[in-house]
Amino acid sequence: MEKGLLFVVSAPAGCGKDTILEQLFKTAENVGYSVSATSRAPREGEIDGVHYHFRTREQFEQMIKNEEVLEYTEYCGNYYGTPRKAVEDMLNAGKDVILKIEVEGAMNIKRLFPECCLVFILPPSMHELERRLRKRGTETEEKIIERTAQAREELKFAENYDYLIVNGELEKAVDDLRSVISAEKLRKSRRMPLLQALRNE
Ligand code: 5GP
Repeated sequence: MEKGLLFVVSAPAGCGKDTILEQLFKTAENVGYSVSATSRAPREGEIDGVHYHFRTREQFEQMIKNEEVLEYTEYCGNYYGTPRKAVEDMLNAGKDVILKIEVEGAMNIKRLFPECCLVFILPPSMHELERRLRKRGTETEEKIIERTAQAREELKFAENYDYLIVNGELEKAVDDLRSVISAEKLRKSRRMPLLQALRNE
């Protein structure tokens, strides 16, 4: 069986990547989501095993020792990592997999899986990003400034990605992501078995 494709989606906070992926998964066929492990505390409404596998720092460190994570990083004082087995199982079963991870993790995944496809979600403008962060209403002014500065840092990595999607209008951004997935599946390098079969007919 042909292996699935690996996609990495990154975006600074406030760019709407969670919403884009939620919409995509409503209709996507044969695309799996890799549920990361983290040592951060669950936010309201987050479910263990759905949004994240919530672990203590000690448990997470044990996972690192046991090489159970493909990559991991410390972000804002918490561990985040991609479980190795779940991702490998889905890919081996021919399923495409999406990882929603931050920029350093994405660079590490690219080193491990050079064939993977990196997608970065951009805000339409920095002004709009700040406005969206403010709209959440859950952050202090200091946090908003910190998050905007963090976004600027993360944006520096965007040029290492394969596709840049602007999340101005949600439906358009979801459509763009769908197109990226379709286009990746049509790449010549991934269609050699098909070409070979045709030539042998
Ligand atoms: P949050 O705490 O807001 O859910 O996530 C913080 C950041 O960590 C986000 O950019 C998110 O994409 C990233 N992240 C989530 N899971 C992983 C992971 O498994 N590995 C890496 N490197 N980053 C992750």
